[in-house]
Amino acid sequence: MYGYLIDMDGVIYRGHELIPGAERFVGELRQKQIPFLFLTNNSQRTRRDVATRLERLGIDVEEEHIFTCAMATARFLARQKPNGTAFVIGEGGLLTALHLNGYSIVDKDPDYVVVGEGRTLNFEMVEAAVGMILGGAKLVATNMDPNCPTQSGTRPGCGAIVAMLELATGARAFSVGKPSPVMLRAALSDLGLTTDKTIIIGDTMETDILGGVQLGTHTVLVLSGGTRREDLRRYTYCPDKIVASIDDLRHDLLVREFSDLTNSRLPDKTTGAGPASRVGYTSV
Ligand SMILES: [Mg+2]
Repeated sequence: MYGYLIDMDGVIYRGHELIPGAERFVGELRQKQIPFLFLTNNSQRTRRDVATRLERLGIDVEEEHIFTCAMATARFLARQKPNGTAFVIGEGGLLTALHLNGYSIVDKDPDYVVVGEGRTLNFEMVEAAVGMILGGAKLVATNMDPNCPTQSGTRPGCGAIVAMLELATGARAFSVGKPSPVMLRAALSDLGLTTDKTIIIGDTMETDILGGVQLGTHTVLVLSGGTRREDLRRYTYCPDKIVASIDDLRHDLLVREFSDLTNSRLPDKTTGAGPASRVGYTSV
């Protein structure tokens, strides 16, 4: 059984607008009971908030279909240090995920300084975080996205806040969100999928596509978000398939295409060499 990890911003919607074809594609997955998760590197909202936002846009999903980098970060920390403490620069989605995973939020001597995006950042918080990190707290980022597109332009992302803390302390953050395999593997495990039966759909080369390439899943780049076809020259890696938008995708056709691709990539048993030609590879 194939399944999907689907990015949202730039794939399903742009700002407050649903991208045509998104409703039909998600409907097809639901009707055929294909496993899928919406993956987001935005730690601000809880999974319920995200599900509600999608429902209001016309996409019929439950909370169980949402997996955020805040959830991935909280699970990661609970596994690294159960019942630990965190000083948080971030919003409700991150605080809720940490609480649900047994973490206490403190403003003194935390085990971790955890950074997500948000609008509540002020210099006192940054100064406090710097002191904690220099005092031994570990720096964890929900993601390293440098910025986020908004209705009115661009706002600084989590990566920009983290960069300030890294520069001030000399510490290096550990990041859990896409393209980290920590988040992608957790999502796969939730769906019970293996990498060769997973299709990642996204609009960002540095997160969605890089994560899939590193993990060995199938990757589909949609050009309905932040990436243009001519941008692809700048990257060493490329997606398996490129389409204008989610409107061009049909589950059955994708599965057939990627099954053929997987078979064509089987190595030569005697020489160990990979396939000489990439049958089915989308030319850029
Ligand atoms: Mg996106």
